[in-house]
Amino acid sequence: MRFTFLGTGTSSGVPVIACDCAVCTSTDPRDNRLRCGAALEFTDPRGRPRTVLIDATPDLRQQALRHKLARCDAILFTHNHVDHTFGLDEVRRFNAVQHSPIDIFGEPHTLEHLRRVYGHIFDAARNVNDSFVASVIPRVIEPGVPLELYGLKITPLRFLHGKLPILGFRIEWAQEKPAAAQADEGAQDTRLGEAGHLESHRHAGIATNPLPPASTAHWWNDDAPEQPTRTNDEHAGSPAAPRASTVPDNTPARTPPTVSGAPASTPPIDTDALTPESLKPAHTDAPVLPLAYCTDVSAIPPETWQHLDDLNVLAIDALRYRRHPTHFCFNQAIEVAQRVRPRQTYFIHMTHDIAHADAEQSLPDEIRLAYDGLVLTERTSAPDVPLTSGFGERP
Ligand SMILES: [Zn+2]
Ligand SMILES: [Zn+2]
Ligand SMILES: [Zn+2]
Repeated sequence: MRFTFLGTGTSSGVPVIACDCAVCTSTDPRDNRLRCGAALEFTDPRGRPRTVLIDATPDLRQQALRHKLARCDAILFTHNHVDHTFGLDEVRRFNAVQHSPIDIFGEPHTLEHLRRVYGHIFDAARNVNDSFVASVIPRVIEPGVPLELYGLKITPLRFLHGKLPILGFRIEWAQEKPAAAQADEGAQDTRLGEAGHLESHRHAGIATNPLPPASTAHWWNDDAPEQPTRTNDEHAGSPAAPRASTVPDNTPARTPPTVSGAPASTPPIDTDALTPESLKPAHTDAPVLPLAYCTDVSAIPPETWQHLDDLNVLAIDALRYRRHPTHFCFNQAIEVAQRVRPRQTYFIHMTHDIAHADAEQSLPDEIRLAYDGLVLTERTSAPDVPLTSGFGERP
């Protein structure tokens, strides 16, 4: 099983267009950050290779080529923002090589965004020409209701991204069940057919996840001014946002390394030996699952903390050093890591405020910055249990 950080940058990517700061001009390839997404490649219980993507970034084509992604069986969407969705067009190539549609999972407002933006995919009959467009099957999911996918148990988790309720994901191998339970589920699958397993999520999702107000469905500016007096309670005022508890916000500001206008303070790096393509997996054979992927998070609702127990890996938003209204800053991400206590934490979705080498010097070993191309590998394959969803039927 391989978990690859395809991109670890904020919505603008790093380098930022028309910026000559020390990070944007750094020779450390870990300071080059494509838009934030990940790929989980594994072998399912029937011995077939599977790839599940988290989000489809505007850089997906480049990411797929860089990491030689050969297929895409499913995409888990965290939310509707452009930096997490504007790569959907690229999956048409996977349709062609797999000869199958691709399941895309998201909340109703995320799937509605995709339908609106990608009319040529979702309403292909109206295209003037019979164009080559992606073939996807939308599947509604809801927080706290696990999904079983090719031997993986994936639990959507509720997070807040400013006032916008979004999803993260806890990913682990499906647990082996008693023989009786397996027999029951097999019978249910036969009755419901391929799509039946998810229909219950579809109904529940629509009932409990009203569309957010239009004002929240836009792209946030990561360079927004610091708002040091904000507290997490401000989110409780939104009708779409559940009350959230998160880390205390009275922590002193961490001093950021010098960035703008100063020479890069990172030590010289042999860039021939260290390119995104050649960076070695950081934790070969260390356990990776359960893993929680939590991007674009600014608050964690009370009901979500229980799903962050017993993690091997936590990937968490750590946008920049200064506070931001819709993302965790560095200190907030550190406090989440210290509360959750996974084996290893990786920061993601970072701006050009953060120089990789400088930032890691101030962190304990169990907290690292992810970088594009970081691959976590685990020898374990899927437990040998029958698939309980219909997705295993696809080639
Ligand atoms: Zn984002
Ligand atoms: Zn810059
Ligand atoms: Zn976002």
